[in-house]
Amino acid sequence: MTNLTQGQAAIRAAAPTVKLLIGGKFVESTTTEWREVINPATQEVLARVPFATVAEVDAAVAAGKEAFKTWRKTAIGTRARIFLKYQQLIRENMKELAAILTAEQGKTLADAEGDIFRGLEVVEHAAGIGNLQLGELANNVAGGVDTYTVLQPLGVCAGITPFNFPAMIPLWMFPMAIATGNTFLLKPSEQDPMVTMRLVELALEAGIPPGVLNVVHGGETVVNAICDHPDIKAVSFVGSTRVGTHVYNRATLAGKRAQCMMGAKNHAIVLPDANKEQTLNNLAGAAFGAAGQRCMALSVVIMVGEAQNWIPELVAKAKTLKISAGVEAGTDVGPLISCAARERVDSLIAQGASDGAKLELDGRNPAVAGYEKGNFVGPTVFSGVKPGMAVYDHEVFGPVLALMSAATLDEAIEMINANPNGNGTALFTQSGAAARRFQEDIDVGQVGINVPIPVPVPMFSFTGSRASKLGDLGPYGKQVVMFYTQTKTITERWFDDSTVSTGVNTTITL
Ligand code: NAD
Repeated sequence: MTNLTQGQAAIRAAAPTVKLLIGGKFVESTTTEWREVINPATQEVLARVPFATVAEVDAAVAAGKEAFKTWRKTAIGTRARIFLKYQQLIRENMKELAAILTAEQGKTLADAEGDIFRGLEVVEHAAGIGNLQLGELANNVAGGVDTYTVLQPLGVCAGITPFNFPAMIPLWMFPMAIATGNTFLLKPSEQDPMVTMRLVELALEAGIPPGVLNVVHGGETVVNAICDHPDIKAVSFVGSTRVGTHVYNRATLAGKRAQCMMGAKNHAIVLPDANKEQTLNNLAGAAFGAAGQRCMALSVVIMVGEAQNWIPELVAKAKTLKISAGVEAGTDVGPLISCAARERVDSLIAQGASDGAKLELDGRNPAVAGYEKGNFVGPTVFSGVKPGMAVYDHEVFGPVLALMSAATLDEAIEMINANPNGNGTALFTQSGAAARRFQEDIDVGQVGINVPIPVPVPMFSFTGSRASKLGDLGPYGKQVVMFYTQTKTITERWFDDSTVSTGVNTTITL
């Protein structure tokens, strides 16, 4: 604050505060540590977000623990109907939610609606929980004996979410956790918590009872308190590999279940038999959409054989994309989330050039009329990229596309499997045999065949291989029902008058 004029400081102090949600009430944090939520296209201060105290985390967990006593026994139909109402409220408020999301995160309004919609689909799925949380029964496992399972909720579960999908990723977590009978503590990204909080308000309006959903804000201290808290039974994390690995280690050491979906370096392979126009359109959209700030962004493309001749056309497509604020009609590429993110991406571009990659298109310092203070980096394309170059070895998380080349499909598959990350990948081809080889041999969680960003819909689960994921079970879908429940196996026999006593038996048998 020291470099601000008095007027600027006064505007910032007057910004609304983001509240905590504890026991059904939105409350002001008592912390002394705050940060600003800033519009990345204009630098306008939109709000101030607290870094909650450990006592506030404790209070939120205690509220969840208390609410669990009744919520865990609430009828399936009652739980499901809340999510039926919730999906309706999200639809009715879509435009307002998208406007908040774009203001604090930067992506275009259309992409913000996509972010919300992909979360909404999980809410719809949660409304069908009656068909998802079913146990199994085997009749007559021994004479007169049946065995069955029940999937019981765990207790208080927690979720820690990243900045890049502030609607979708919280909605990956709390609807399914709550629908399965748990209570939930959410820790949204401190960079853009406002749309998440509006979604939380709507969840309460839909009928989620006090204490069933709680929210705290903050960074490392709050996350560590969540990992260590003895009354939290499971932690879901989505974010970078560095933080996710820390969360996984710390939470599991404290005896919790943990699922951590982490960083990426997603490669596409382009075979020369691919449909050229469709492929190049898909590549440009997947590399530069959301300014490359998607965990499923295609940031590396391996051109095989003759497909290497398509580079000029790909660069030409990248040049046509409009860079501006997400609220401006026709914008393709919005700003990066923060000044620090922009500086980091700019310096990785400089490093890529000095490492010897060929800078085909340099997106640094674009002129964006009306938004001169925005954190903009335009589409950037390198060719001749190799492992060992900074632009390949790091997840850039900006609109930077690295082009590599390979002689064959097998060579390209080996290159992808040698990268530490295994989040998403795509193959562009017209050959079914090549596609089958690819899906069999690639060690990556999400695989697209002529589909650039293959994020699974909610009847499946998001997944990941190698450094992109820790924990066995992924978010949403069938896997998350198993993650958020404990399987109890019941073996039962009933005696009636016709049962013949066999006396005391000391061997293991039914
Ligand atoms: P991040 O790891 O910086 O932050 C994620 C969460 O961790 C935030 O809530 C943040 O407050 C918290 N956090 C940050 N630093 C921490 C620390 N030192 N200790 C404890 N907690 C800390 O991630 P981000 O920058 O918000 O998001 C971008 C990253 O998320 C990228 O790496 C992207 O690939 C990844 N991501 C992955 C997926 C997936 O499903 N695999 C989806 C979206 C984003």
